[in-house]
Amino acid sequence: MTQGAGGEAQAEGAEARTGRRNVTGLVIVNTGNGKGKTTAALGVLFRAWGRGMNVRMFQFIKNTGSRYGEQRAAEKIGLDISALGDGFTWLSKDLDHSGELAAEQWSNCKEAILHGGHDLVVMDELTYALQFGWVSTEELIETLKQRPQTMHVIITGRGAPEALVEYADLVTEMREIKHPFAEKGIKAQPGIEF
Ligand code: ATP
Ligand code: MG
Repeated sequence: MTQGAGGEAQAEGAEARTGRRNVTGLVIVNTGNGKGKTTAALGVLFRAWGRGMNVRMFQFIKNTGSRYGEQRAAEKIGLDISALGDGFTWLSKDLDHSGELAAEQWSNCKEAILHGGHDLVVMDELTYALQFGWVSTEELIETLKQRPQTMHVIITGRGAPEALVEYADLVTEMREIKHPFAEKGIKAQPGIEF
């Protein structure tokens, strides 16, 4: 809040954009082995965008320039989703390269969190970079502490580290009950998985 010329209080940032006072930025973690972590984050991104909020999504791991359905949708409506990665899996050969890309994406995220003027920042699949030590959990939490007080942040991925779960305000674990690949060998379906 700042004081206007006439002394009246004026809302800034997320408060101005949502027309609400006392916006409290949340740290949200979607973790677990079940499906729905990234898509739940996309749902919130869409909802916040609908309210005129300034939203941004960074994807780790997923190939740079990949054309997932969410990236195509974002392009159509002018939303900013940037992927920087080489599609790393546990079987990747060049882990050093995957790590360098993750570190670079983290520095983009850090800049956006501290100086981007966003109301919501999503870091999709960040947990893998934390697990591999490509991004420091300690530095992540320090950065989250320094973010603007009204900024929401969503982190997705399996195996969220305990310290992050502890620090976050909202943590959801997706639990697998059935998966079509595990059950029936059905391959990933466009529009459902990517
Ligand atoms: P979504 O992007 O649909 O919200 P997610 O972010 O929760 O899913 P990730 O943990 O990022 O999913 O996993 C990546 C992909 O692995 C997903 O498309 C998911 O469906 C798939 N997956 C999850 N469990 C299994 C399984 N048991 N066998 C094969 N693929 C799986
Ligand atoms: Mg995901």
